[in-house]
Amino acid sequence: MASEPRVIVVGGGLAGLAASVRVAEAGVAVDLFSMVPVKRSHSVCAQGGINACTEPVRQEGFSEYDHFDETLYGGDFLNHQPPVYEMTHWAPRIIDLLDRMGVPFDRTSEGFLDRRYFGGSVFRRTHFTGASTGQQLLYGLDEQTRRYETQGKVTKHEFWEFLWPVVDPDGVCRGIVAQDMRTMEVKSFRADAVVMATGGCGLIFGKSTMSVICTGGAASRCYQAGAWLGNPEMIQVHPTAIPGEDKCRLMSESARGEGGRVWLPGIQDENGDWKPHPDAGRHPNEIPEDERYYVLEEMYSTYGPTKRHGNLVSRDVATRGIFFAVQQGFGIGGGKMAYLDITHLPADTKEKLAAILEIYEKFTGDDPRHVPMKIFPAVHYSMGGLYAIYETEQEPKPKFLTDLLPDDAGQQKDPSKPAHPGMVQGSHYNMMTNVKGLYALGEVNFSYHGATRLGANALLSCIFDGLFCGLGIANYAREMAKHDAAADVDAAVFDAVVKQETDKSDRFIATVDAADEGVNPYELHRKLGEIMTEELTVVRTQEGMKRALDIVRGYIADYQNIKLGDQGHWTNQNLSFTRALGDMLIYAEAMLLAGIDRKESRGCHYCSDQDGRNDEKYMKTAVCQYDPATGQHAVKWEDVPIPLIEPRIRDYGGKKKETKVTVKPELATAADPGEDRNNPDPV
Ligand SMILES: Cc1cc2nc3c(=O)[nH]c(=O)nc-3n(C[C@H](O)[C@H](O)[C@H](O)COP(=O)(O)OP(=O)(O)OC[C@H]3O[C@@H](n4cnc5c(N)ncnc54)[C@H](O)[C@@H]3O)c2cc1C
Repeated sequence: MASEPRVIVVGGGLAGLAASVRVAEAGVAVDLFSMVPVKRSHSVCAQGGINACTEPVRQEGFSEYDHFDETLYGGDFLNHQPPVYEMTHWAPRIIDLLDRMGVPFDRTSEGFLDRRYFGGSVFRRTHFTGASTGQQLLYGLDEQTRRYETQGKVTKHEFWEFLWPVVDPDGVCRGIVAQDMRTMEVKSFRADAVVMATGGCGLIFGKSTMSVICTGGAASRCYQAGAWLGNPEMIQVHPTAIPGEDKCRLMSESARGEGGRVWLPGIQDENGDWKPHPDAGRHPNEIPEDERYYVLEEMYSTYGPTKRHGNLVSRDVATRGIFFAVQQGFGIGGGKMAYLDITHLPADTKEKLAAILEIYEKFTGDDPRHVPMKIFPAVHYSMGGLYAIYETEQEPKPKFLTDLLPDDAGQQKDPSKPAHPGMVQGSHYNMMTNVKGLYALGEVNFSYHGATRLGANALLSCIFDGLFCGLGIANYAREMAKHDAAADVDAAVFDAVVKQETDKSDRFIATVDAADEGVNPYELHRKLGEIMTEELTVVRTQEGMKRALDIVRGYIADYQNIKLGDQGHWTNQNLSFTRALGDMLIYAEAMLLAGIDRKESRGCHYCSDQDGRNDEKYMKTAVCQYDPATGQHAVKWEDVPIPLIEPRIRDYGGKKKETKVTVKPELATAADPGEDRNNPDPV
């Protein structure tokens, strides 16, 4: 029986809000779920900016295609090209839209949108609002969401935790089961499409720059329910953060984008080579200019318009530059820190960075306007996530879904026109996972950023995902509501998942009174974070990842003996965290398995025991599939389509040792006889 279509959006960050606005605008009702008030979603922490090749950028001679190309180069060509093409070409329109919505972007004195440099780019295409861009964007989209809320098209469910997707016996997602985090009531909700916009999974690494709710628990639950993961091993370590006891706090790339420089105490020998300074513990303001080793500028001196642009190489490259220098003994006072220096910048430039400078001052007590900041790399972003597909005019439809979907509501192709290189607007397929009716948008989606995300591309991918793919989601929900509505699905399908989740909660609560000591969830989480940080961050090896896998499997066994400290039936945070910990462990196992299987170095997946990038074997997505019956993961390899830009060697003008890059034979052209296989790679 036909019914009114409904879409559930899980997540009220930028991706979730953008999707809600777009779906509601298309006339379909939205139920929006978030663990925290949407304005406290992690997106609020984003600092530096959002990329787009707007008109002022074009006037400087750069195009959307340059943005597209830099994004692929940054991602070491593991990105899916059609979505990136579409995203970079929609970016200027997105900035215009946000501007019209009232986001207070910084402007030049002539009234043009101001822009700053950012990592992995040689042109200024990062739009910003001081250094609190995420907050301004989130508040802007929240206002739009409220507009639809007052019209009854969006219903917000804040403080509700998504527990499990409801997937019917035919494999179609029909809704979700969620828990009210105040009353602890577990309940099911029906929908014709479900959107996961639940962000990243940095908490798997214990301390990261992400918020403490970024556990990846929601993605892991979808994974355990049958959705696949793409490239879960790809985790970004940001070069500049303040390590803290509780978490790491980001010092945004905007500091370097505005002219900040990274340096270490050093001394040059007679050959001009830098050595660690014997007196590395002096106050930084006492260290003279010729005893400052500007490590990234020295290593990547030819990357950008000036030597100082070396500070802005892609994040994985900058992180390794700092990390290895510290390993060689250059660290401040011989320890694990480097300087990020903005003291030389003019006062008005410092003012643009005020939001992050205040964070630094608050947590360290030093005023970074006058004293160089002490920083070190920290886990920051998940490039991998839920596997999702998309429709293009060039590629045939994904085979495994063609039988399942109703009529395609995507745009009809005009045979007289050349194929559009991006995604088909309005298609049901765009960012649908392998589970029919379950979508993945924003950081939880794996498609856009390959093996390293460029700074300021995350906010763009979140908003683009919501605004562009929202239309296809509304189309799909409408079709389903007409022919095969969630409202008609047998209640038993929902009740079974409610029971599964209620039983799970009851089992945890029962551990409080159990006689044995049990395992402390916070202690187990600390240990998980330590081993994952040790073996799956900046430098990886087969031996290390296998060791971590054994240990994580031991933790999965320990988890069976977990013990809660709180049996409260009101806002039981202990329960929520412990449940997510089990999901983090399974996600961690998938990350390690994919990492072990990817026997190459690519982007953030730098393996000191592998011989460079291997396009012949690994220009592929690691697709992880989970079997809940056995608890086993399978890692399958799927070719990354290369319809537009052929992969090339990534070096950022580096002048370090040479490394091998093996290319697929069909990509080695006549003009490229193969000597490029031994090319300079920075690290
Ligand atoms: C400190 C910092 C600074 C950054 N600065 C920039 C920048 O300048 N530019 C840039 O491009 N990128 C930046 N990033 C990255 C960017 O902020 C994120 O990738 C992006 O905000 C993620 O948005 P999202 O909508 O996907 O998820 P989030 O904003 O993380 O939102 C996730 C949502 O899902 C909800 N949720 C999660 N689990 C559940 C569950 N189980 N049940 C119910 N709800 C759930 C949460 O409540 C939340 O509403 C930064 C990241 C960090 C850590």
